[in-house]
Amino acid sequence: MLRKVCPICGRETDVLIEGMCPDCYRATHRIVDTPESITVLRCRGCGAYFINGRWVKGVRSLERLVASKVKVRGVVEGMEVGVFRDRAKVKVKGKASELMPNSYEEEYEVKLMFQNDLCPSCRAELMKREEAIIQLRLIGGDPSDVKSKVMDIVRMVLSKGEDKGRIISVEDVDGGFDIKVTSQRLARSIALSIHRELPSFMMETSKVIGYRGDRRVEKRSISIHVFGLSKGEVVNINGTYYLVKSLHRDHVEFVRLNDGLQLNVKYGKLTQERISQVTDYSIQCGGGRVMVKVGDLQYVLSGVSLICP
Ligand SMILES: [Zn+2]
Ligand SMILES: [Zn+2]
Repeated sequence: MLRKVCPICGRETDVLIEGMCPDCYRATHRIVDTPESITVLRCRGCGAYFINGRWVKGVRSLERLVASKVKVRGVVEGMEVGVFRDRAKVKVKGKASELMPNSYEEEYEVKLMFQNDLCPSCRAELMKREEAIIQLRLIGGDPSDVKSKVMDIVRMVLSKGEDKGRIISVEDVDGGFDIKVTSQRLARSIALSIHRELPSFMMETSKVIGYRGDRRVEKRSISIHVFGLSKGEVVNINGTYYLVKSLHRDHVEFVRLNDGLQLNVKYGKLTQERISQVTDYSIQCGGGRVMVKVGDLQYVLSGVSLICP
């Protein structure tokens, strides 16, 4: 057989492939082409990858993605893809041209570039975790009247727009209503405004709703007891009549009608009492004294002229 000479390396060869010996051909031609890098969206919540329009989990799907980007140039007899962190190794057995006498192995590296994103289910869970509930419990007064006062404050906070978010729902429950909003920040802001404007007692609680790895997932809620109390009105607490002398940030000043005793009661303590509205009463002032009539009963108080016009 006539031997040929490779014009590149000068060695004798049995075959010339595109004008060069198999060794020179191998040195200048790859069995497959691989991209230098592949960019993949990765969910920062669950680690899923967005591949071919779907969120999928596991390193196997990354390996399949890399394999799908490999372009065969020569003859491939076998291929293995392995992913280690942000690198994929592609091992190929074959040859760059079918004219080559022997097959061999080559290894290529593909860089994986991950971009943080959130898959729909993690996004939904995050939203849910962010959601906050303000539990409003109404004590005393006319519930619908108190509720409309509360909602006026809520609307005012939302219209200021300092805390982004919105109301998800307003739901009546036993003893009051619940307002669900899209963020803890907004809930706090609304709650503080209600607490500032109306006689009330505010409490924040936190409940563990699950675990993610070592991290606790908590759901916080804020409860506010709003008292339907107005200065100068008569209320019934646990069966006894009281006159509301003045309202303060954390307490209320009462005058007990049957003995004229003046007492300060913290709103937090008042949450445990039974307060009901009294409708059939009248108040008259004269001569430095206050006459309060409740039904058939009459009380005379002195030293509480504050409430007289
Ligand atoms: Zn050569
Ligand atoms: Zn996810």
